[in-house]
Amino acid sequence: MAGRGKVLITRPMTKAVEARAREIFDVEIRQSTAVMSEAEMIASLSAYDVVVPTLGDAYGAAVFAAVPEPRCKLLANFGVGYNHLDVAAAAKAGIAVTNTPGAVTDATADIALTLMLMSARRAGEGERLVRSGDWQGWHPTQMLGLHMTGKRLGILGLGRIGDAIARRAHFGFGMEIAYVARSDKATDYPARRAESLLAMAAEVDMLVVAVPGGAETRHLVNAEVLAAMRPHAHLINIARGEVVEEEALIAALQLGQIAGAGLDVYEFEPQVPEALRALDNVTLLPHLGTATEEVRSLMGHMALDNVLACLEGRALPNPV
Ligand code: NAP
Repeated sequence: MAGRGKVLITRPMTKAVEARAREIFDVEIRQSTAVMSEAEMIASLSAYDVVVPTLGDAYGAAVFAAVPEPRCKLLANFGVGYNHLDVAAAAKAGIAVTNTPGAVTDATADIALTLMLMSARRAGEGERLVRSGDWQGWHPTQMLGLHMTGKRLGILGLGRIGDAIARRAHFGFGMEIAYVARSDKATDYPARRAESLLAMAAEVDMLVVAVPGGAETRHLVNAEVLAAMRPHAHLINIARGEVVEEEALIAALQLGQIAGAGLDVYEFEPQVPEALRALDNVTLLPHLGTATEEVRSLMGHMALDNVLACLEGRALPNPV
């Protein structure tokens, strides 16, 4: 048995990942699907050599401060987004942080395309109509949406996922790609770096959010950006809820400032405001970005590879 350290995995995992973890570690797999309480997080830093946390497990400065001499050496996050972890406070406490980049890219881009098409073609609204039993039949002007092929797509954050979205949109739908990032990107498809988010928002038919969450990106998409968008345009967010000012988005949708939105993530997840749920021009998914057996197993194995490296004293494969 490798790595005789004690490991806590904070949620049930796929069968394959749980089986491997049990085979190679002295592991406890928490059975609850709820986020960790502060007391649980504090206790975990004293009781385990490595913790595998995930979305919503808010290891903040107060948690690290409560355990001056932690036994824990690594938080091997399950997921690429780690804005729920205070990485600087962890480092100060001598705790490394890793994540699972790459494993999530294609699945999350697929969900972006799902939302783009659903929002453009009013698929959620149409499905509700059929289920209601009120559908009166096809006619030439029934539920007209936005023709996505050939339109302009603006991507906020052309990283791994943003690039995978751009490739799908360019090669599959002949879309023109513009992006906002902190640096120029070399792509094998035409993509123009926009002068600013505001300028890009004003000229695209679809705006997709693909930047990480955190203080730097909080509310990047605010009332001003939404007001700059064209009335037929759609906003898609597959990144983190806090990047979009939810209240401003609700107002923009209510006022018809934009035609629709497709969301996989929410500012105060899992709370989704009643005002948002009441709107017909928004497609709402329950954070499905990486939700396939194959991808969740890939993510889990990647997290376990980091745990193993830590316990064996090797370089961490995916430090953040
Ligand atoms: P990534 O490869 O690190 O890409 C992030 C991109 O955002 C980069 O292009 C980066 O630009 C840009 N960026 C960062 N901060 C910025 C800022 N302040 N202004 C403008 N651009 C900025 O990350 P990824 O793997 O694509 O993942 C992106 C995020 O998606 C994750 O952090 C996670 O929160 C989210 N996600 C969601 C799901 C889901 O289930 N819905 C699944 C997976 C991931 P530079 O390269 O120039 O720095």
